Amino acid sequence: MSAIVSIRNLHKSFGPAKVLNGVSLEVKKSQMVAIIGRSGSGKSTLLRCLNGLEKVDSGDIEVCGYQVSRPEGLDLRQLRKKVGIVFQSYNLFPHLTVERNVTLALTTIKKMPLAEAKSTADSVLQMVGMEHKKDAYPEQLSGGQQQRVAIARSLAMAPELMLFDEVTSALDPELTAEVLKVMENLARNGMTMALVTHEMAFARKLADVLVFMHQGKVWEVGPPEELFERPKTSELAKFVSSEL
Ligand code: ADP
Ligand code: MG
Repeated sequence: MSAIVSIRNLHKSFGPAKVLNGVSLEVKKSQMVAIIGRSGSGKSTLLRCLNGLEKVDSGDIEVCGYQVSRPEGLDLRQLRKKVGIVFQSYNLFPHLTVERNVTLALTTIKKMPLAEAKSTADSVLQMVGMEHKKDAYPEQLSGGQQQRVAIARSLAMAPELMLFDEVTSALDPELTAEVLKVMENLARNGMTMALVTHEMAFARKLADVLVFMHQGKVWEVGPPEELFERPKTSELAKFVSSEL
C-alpha cells in the first residue's frame, strides 16, 4: 500500500513552546487514521502542518507527492486541491446558498463551467444527504447539516486525502451521529482520511490506525483494539479511562 502521508521527525514550536516534538507517522491509501489525546497535545497543529497551514521547524512531510515541509517551490494551491480539511466551525459563506457554497471553489479555483460545477455539487450533496437543501442558506440549517455541507464542499474538489479536526465537537449527540455516518460512508468508499476526534467508539470501530498524542509526540500508535484494551503507557491508560 502506498503512503499518501509520510511524516518523519517533525518538530514545530510556537516561540518557546515545543508543540510537535519529533512526530513520525504514515497514512496509507484508503486508511482511516484517528488521532486522540488531551487538549494541547499538538493534534490540530499536526493536521495543519499537513496542508501547509503551519510552517514546520524541521523534519519531512510528504503529502500526495508534495514535499510540504519545503515551502520553496511548493504550490499550495495544487496541494490544497488534493487535501480537503474540515474544522469544528463550519465556515460556510453565510450569504451564499448551500449549492453556491459548494460550487464556488469549483468555478473559481478549478475553473469548472457552472453547469458541471452544479452537477458535481448535486452528487456530493447527495453523498452527505443534503441535496434537498441546495437552495437554503446556512442559517436555515442545523449545525449538523452545515457541517455536512462543509464536508460536501471539500469533497467537491475530489481530494485524495481528507483531514477532519474535531468536526463533531460543537454538535449535539444526534447531530454528531449524522456527521459521523457521513464520515463512515466516506471511509467505506475508500477515502484516505486523518481525523482528530473525541468520539472514542467511532475511532475504535472504524479507524485502521489509532494514534495517541501526548506532549507533542506520538505516544502510542497501533490497531484501535490494542490501544484501548492494552495501553502500554500510564498516560494512555489514564486518557482512555477519562474518556469512558
Ligand atoms: P490540540 O489540538 O491537541 O488541542 P494544538 O495543536 O491546538 O493542540 O495546540 C498545541 C499547543 O500549541 C497548545 O499549547 C497551543 O496553545 C499551542 N498553539 C497552537 N497554535 C498556536 C499558535 N498559532 N500560536 C501559539 N501557540 C499555539
Ligand atoms: Mg485541536
